[in-house]
Parts: sequence; C-alpha cells; structure tokens
Amino acid sequence: MKSSATKLPGAPRVGTVYLVGAGPGDPDLLTLRAARLVMSARLVVHDGLVDPSILAMAPAGARFVSVAKARARHTMAQDDINALLVREARAGNDVIRLKGGDPFIFGRGGEEAEACRAAGVPVDVVPGISAANAAAAAAQIPLTHRDSASIVSFVAGQCKGLAEQNWAGLAGVGRTLVIYMGVATADAIAEKLIADGLSPAMSLAVVENAARRSMRVLRGPLAGLGELVVREKVKSPAVIVIGDVTGRETAERLKELAEMAQ
Ligand code: SAH
Repeated sequence: MKSSATKLPGAPRVGTVYLVGAGPGDPDLLTLRAARLVMSARLVVHDGLVDPSILAMAPAGARFVSVAKARARHTMAQDDINALLVREARAGNDVIRLKGGDPFIFGRGGEEAEACRAAGVPVDVVPGISAANAAAAAAQIPLTHRDSASIVSFVAGQCKGLAEQNWAGLAGVGRTLVIYMGVATADAIAEKLIADGLSPAMSLAVVENAARRSMRVLRGPLAGLGELVVREKVKSPAVIVIGDVTGRETAERLKELAEMAQ
C-alpha cells in the first residue's frame, strides 16, 4: 500500500468504488463476484441499461441512484457522476457502480476510475459480459471461427463524425465487426463500410435485447441494413454483427440444398 493511503488513527474511512459489469440483463449472466457485491450493497449507482431484476438483488434498505444515460437525454453529466462517486466514497460509503455489459467497453469506466484515483479513492473493477459476447452466445453466432473469422473488432457507431472514423480493414472476409450504439446511424454505417470496399452482399445480423426475453435476431445483407432497421423498428439496445460468421447457417443450408439437388 502506498504511504499516501495510510490514515492517521481516527481519520475518516474512505469507501471503495466498485465498477461492476452487470452483463446484458439476465441475472444469470452476472459473475459471482458481481452478484455478491450487489447482494451486500448499501449504495448502488446504476445506469439505464441495468436490468431491474439485477437491482432487485440488492438488500432491503440499499440506496439507489440512477444516472441513466440515453442518446441525447443525459440525466447526469459524466463529471457529475464522477463527483458523486468520489463524494460518496469520501463520506465513507462503498459504492457499487453498476454498468451494463462490461465497465471498460464503451462504458466510461475508464473515466470514472481515473476520477476516483485522482481523488485518492480506491477503485475495484469487476468485469461483465459485454453485449458482443452476450449477443454472440444468445444468437449462436461465433465471433471467430476457424473457417470464417480470425479477427474481431468492437466499434461505437454513435459518435460525432462517423465519417471521419477509420474502420478500414476492420470488416470483410475473415473478420467480424461488432457495432455498438449503431441503430440510429445504421444507414450511414452501411454506406461507410461499402465505400470502404466491403461487399454490399456481406451478411450481417442485428441482435436486439441480446440475452433478454425480448431478444430479436434479424439477418440480411449489408446493403439492406438501414432499411432492415427501419422496417423492423429496431430499438436500442442492439448490436450489429457484420461478417461471414453471421451467414454460416445460411451458407451451410444452401450447400445442403445444392447437394440434395444433384
Ligand atoms: N458497456 C456495455 C456497452 C455500453 S454502450 C457493454 O459492454 O455491453 C451501449 C450499447 O451496448 C447499446 O447501444 C447496444 O449497442 C449495446 N448493448 C447493451 N446491452 C445490450 C443487449 N442486451 N443487447 C444488445 N445490445 C446491447
């Protein structure tokens, strides 16, 4: 332990901030460590993606603070969330900061950890099952496959200046691209990838509400992505998986049919 963390006798206790991955929503997909922390929590700070069934695991009397974020509807600015975590820890409270999926994949966990460390607040990070992994398992789409993909990338589809993002080489033959937060910009994403040289016929799957009862898996070619999202009224949260791994079932079926026809 660093000497700066040594406390004089009687100095106030500083709580620990636990950045905990809550996975895709199904409580069965929590790590045991995350489940134990939630079940003994006295203060839970959570964002909107955390399923109510997971929050319900906290003991009676636990305090909940929602810092729900939705596209274009920020209920609490990131700086305010950072300040809240530091303030509570300095007041002696352990904070269970629950985040959907994994805290370090598009979860701003890095920013919160930095803010805590800068304030001398101990941080512990508990990984969670990220949406890409949850969607892959639930839809039975392997992200890698010896015959179809040996590279997998995760990108954020909702960012300012999508056109300036360099995704060249991330999608294509032998590669799987998983796009988070891509529903609102699906059309522009397909255009961008096709402009980068990807085949308009490349297969993809949109997995909405992965690992939840309301899950939908929609498949189609890259060129039809924008239309698919509109026609099927796809809502966030959803991931878009692009690559041959999403068409393996179809490819196998076509091969079978061709063999039967011979
Ligand atoms: N830290 C989270 C990602 C937060 S960004 C993680 O590791 O999963 C929010 C995006 O995650 C959503 O826009 C969506 O693209 C994706 N997402 C989160 N939960 C999902 C779910 N159950 N099904 C599909 N996509 C999900």
